[in-house]
Amino acid sequence: MRDKDPIAIVGGGIAGLSLALALHKRGITCEVFEAVPEVQEIGVGITLLPHAMQELTELGLQPALEAVAIENLESVFFNRHGQFIYSEPRGRHAGYEVPELGIHRGKLHQILYRAACERLGVEHVHTQHRCTHFEQDASGVTLHFRPIGDGEPVQPVRARLVVACDGVNSAIRRQLFPSDAVCFAGINTWRGVSVHKPILTGKSYIRIGSIDTGKMVIYPIVDNVDGQGNQLINWVAEIRRPDAKMNDWNQPGDLDDFLPTFADWRYDWLDVPELIRGAQHIFEYPMVDKDALPRWTHGRVTLMGDAAHPMYPRGSNGSAQALLDARTLADLLAQHPDELQALALYEGKRLPATANVVQTNRTQPPDAIIMKADELSGGQPFDNIDDLISRDQLQAISDRYKQVAGFALASPR
Ligand SMILES: Cc1cc2nc3c(=O)[nH]c(=O)nc-3n(C[C@H](O)[C@H](O)[C@H](O)COP(=O)(O)OP(=O)(O)OC[C@H]3O[C@@H](n4cnc5c(N)ncnc54)[C@H](O)[C@@H]3O)c2cc1C
Repeated sequence: MRDKDPIAIVGGGIAGLSLALALHKRGITCEVFEAVPEVQEIGVGITLLPHAMQELTELGLQPALEAVAIENLESVFFNRHGQFIYSEPRGRHAGYEVPELGIHRGKLHQILYRAACERLGVEHVHTQHRCTHFEQDASGVTLHFRPIGDGEPVQPVRARLVVACDGVNSAIRRQLFPSDAVCFAGINTWRGVSVHKPILTGKSYIRIGSIDTGKMVIYPIVDNVDGQGNQLINWVAEIRRPDAKMNDWNQPGDLDDFLPTFADWRYDWLDVPELIRGAQHIFEYPMVDKDALPRWTHGRVTLMGDAAHPMYPRGSNGSAQALLDARTLADLLAQHPDELQALALYEGKRLPATANVVQTNRTQPPDAIIMKADELSGGQPFDNIDDLISRDQLQAISDRYKQVAGFALASPR
């Protein structure tokens, strides 16, 4: 059967395409089935932390990514009054072998997609294949797909293994866990990109405020976007309201829903309302995750990436964890002739690790640094952060998150 039926990857996002590339690198063939008719450059910014970049570098993609991204120099934290709390160097500037990058999510996706088409062969990366469900027996799995728009049927596919990489609203996860649902705790987000002059160093990943006060995350993703030295700046606004209705992934954002929270966030180094107003399009997202599952693997079917462990996008870790999943499974499949044993080992290694990141993103994300400063200052302006808390104590919060997420400088792989 191994020669006959392929490994099927459902979903050609970050997890699915990086798994395809990692398997290909190890001489293991696979087929990718992606729902959308064509992969477009949609979305906004994403940050690739060193552990994500390590995996992408091993896939040979670092030069292509660096060519279209901005290398972060520092991560900086401010309170809602615009007062400096903490900063630290990032990526190569902090001693890692690889850079930390801010990049347009669509460009990352295109680079993965093109690499997969070139290396696997375009005939092995199937678009317009929206999986609806699967059937499984002792020898393999049959995947079923939704007919194409005009009702044209899509033939079922037989596979020896299926890896569900179909994202946060995974159809395969729903089939395995019918009561599966996202967890929404009243936090909504709005995202956009604005053409703006460089902020701080022009290579700074900036967090302002906390989820208690309203929070902004701001970082550049394209340099000199207009030939006049301006950058494309990615921004995210996060607001928690106890009575909030969950934002819709498919709706455009409305300024009236969130701009009032940031109306007086005007500092001598940045005018936040002006930055927000500079965006051509605003997208709304709910901040959701899911409780950790008891298991990912069901016979010959397993889960990966957001289908396995969607997490709050608070620590820039969703794609990194997907990339770690992909390399781990590819390694295990290359090492173990018994593929079902490889699936079990993959789950044993990655399920507890990612459950820990999901939980930490809920309770102790990196912005705990700002919450700590707010707690000590009573949310009021302060004269000097050093009078409230030492730099070492703030660094300890940052370092703890890196340990959990697997990108401390000395983290084992
Ligand atoms: C607002 C926001 C900001 C984020 N910021 C960061 C960040 O800065 N850094 C970071 O590392 N991560 C970030 N993330 C998380 C990151 O985007 C995800 O964790 C990552 O995309 C997960 O990859 P994935 O392949 O599992 O899922 P996705 O990238 O969602 O890909 C899923 C793919 O499956 C396809 N698909 C869906 N259903 C089916 C089906 N039934 N059949 C076939 N195909 C299907 C989809 O079309 C899609 O191509 C952020 C997430 C959000 C929501």
